[in-house]
Amino acid sequence: MKIERIEIAPLNLIPQVALTVAYGSYPELEYVLIKLHTDSGIIGLGEASPDPAVTGETQASTIDALERLTPALIGRDPFDIEAIIREVERIAPDHPGAEAAIDMALYDLMGKQLNMPVHKLIGGKARSTVDLYPVVPMDAPPVMAAMARQFTEQGFRALKIKLGSDPEIDIERVKAITEAVGGDIVLRPDINQGWSDAETTIAAIERLAPYNIEYIEQPTAASDLDALAKVTAAVDLPIMADESCHRPADALEIVMRGAADILNIKLMKCGGIYRALQIAAIGEAAGVPCILGSMGESSIGSAAALHLMAARPSIIACELIGPLFLSGDPATGFEVDMSTGQAIIPEAPGLGVSLR
Ligand code: MG
Repeated sequence: MKIERIEIAPLNLIPQVALTVAYGSYPELEYVLIKLHTDSGIIGLGEASPDPAVTGETQASTIDALERLTPALIGRDPFDIEAIIREVERIAPDHPGAEAAIDMALYDLMGKQLNMPVHKLIGGKARSTVDLYPVVPMDAPPVMAAMARQFTEQGFRALKIKLGSDPEIDIERVKAITEAVGGDIVLRPDINQGWSDAETTIAAIERLAPYNIEYIEQPTAASDLDALAKVTAAVDLPIMADESCHRPADALEIVMRGAADILNIKLMKCGGIYRALQIAAIGEAAGVPCILGSMGESSIGSAAALHLMAARPSIIACELIGPLFLSGDPATGFEVDMSTGQAIIPEAPGLGVSLR
């Protein structure tokens, strides 16, 4: 099987609720859809959901990178993924989103050619259920409390909550949410670097002690591993590295410095499934669990991540909720059992998704 041509197209989606986090708001999502056409007639699907605030990529720069990468892909056998990924990173080293789109399309092609789902190519089905948990965007405390309540009424038992402004208001948000949903619901605050320094963060975390919080995600600046390490050493609550942890080398540095207790893997930060497997391996070897985050990908990117989740039990949680809140999802095949809040691992060949 050889790649013959690549279709690259913008994919603009509207979230049902504007996603607001500490560093910005996302009323419209500008993604990129790719199709790798092969000489055997099989088509591999891939998606990039670039986030300029996290990787510096935009829809335009992703399309540009994919166009620059095209000559290196034509004529290649998708099974030569090690060589292809190296070539992609040589030509476009700062485009993990574009790389992830190519990576998942390669896995889609391999699976379709072998007539098996992607998780069978990367270790098999090591778990049969995958719990999802929704995200409450940053807003005024009563607005967040009402949305949190809605989610728990749907049956979700854990909530990611977006914080990261003035800690005073953030604590009000946690209090309002807890009052609305009860103390049994697990809260996973994502600070998105908003508490900036270690001292502010440590003081804020001490004040969160009365609440049912499982871990704190990326409280301090992405580039300041010293601050993250200081917080991790000072508090009992586990600290997660997200914006500080992009590529496998970042994961290695974080675990070696003890800068976080948990690593957040995202396909759009690390360059796709191939590199994500390496981060999971680093975490597992270091005794540091991973979670699988998302940048709100549609069913294509979310299915890619779901196969990874199925194959790696050391990834303890995932947030593949893009398909639940996007209007205009281009694909089907990412199914959620809303009675349990669990994603259903696709069994169809490749990523297991089809364009509508
Ligand atoms: Mg995060």
